[in-house]
Amino acid sequence: MRSILRLSRHVLDALAPERCAACDATVAADVLFCHACREAVNVLSPHTVRVAGLGDAIGSAGVAIASLTAFARYDAGADRGPVAAALQAFKYRNAFRLAPRLAAAMAACAPAGTEPPLVAPVPLHVRRLRGRGFNQSALLARHVGRLRGWPVAVDLLVRVRDTPSQTALDVVARRTNVAGAFAVRRAEAARKRHVLLVDDVWTSGATAQAIAELLRDAGVAAVDVLTFARVV
Ligand SMILES: [Zn+2]
Repeated sequence: MRSILRLSRHVLDALAPERCAACDATVAADVLFCHACREAVNVLSPHTVRVAGLGDAIGSAGVAIASLTAFARYDAGADRGPVAAALQAFKYRNAFRLAPRLAAAMAACAPAGTEPPLVAPVPLHVRRLRGRGFNQSALLARHVGRLRGWPVAVDLLVRVRDTPSQTALDVVARRTNVAGAFAVRRAEAARKRHVLLVDDVWTSGATAQAIAELLRDAGVAAVDVLTFARVV
């Protein structure tokens, strides 16, 4: 009886209409935001910026990241908009339903180089992975890779040290916080390749910068970053 109930819940779940990523409005399949929320999204144009000019923001003299591409502006604060609401829902409630649609927006603006990049997610520490059951950045990376036909290396990087949340830290503290937190596990697979590092949101860039430095040391040719949203 229980398994029948569970099965019917899955069936109902699959048949249920898609909901807007930010509110409860019903949307057509594959649509990320309802009309009202979409109007309130600050889509970044151009999507891609050269990161060299962001050295001060990252708190580093030498920037190891070549470029950053983000679909929309992250709207935090009191008047939290649909982008922040969508990422909150993605992270804590609805990851598997939202991942394909968030990734589609990212894949559409990902820059195409001359050769396909190796797509890699920002890794989660194993303790958090056990607690949450999945790495949200890996979900996005898998879908971006599938949509663009690019290879995905989910285990290219590993988080060797669990770090406190970055939310309350300033730029310098963020850099100290992530120093030594990551390692390259499959350096051979990435040597001389172009890596596209995927994460849900770009905040200070401290995490991406720390990873990019490691990848460059491991012989990676170039590191670009792709996120759904970016704090501007
Ligand atoms: Zn909505």
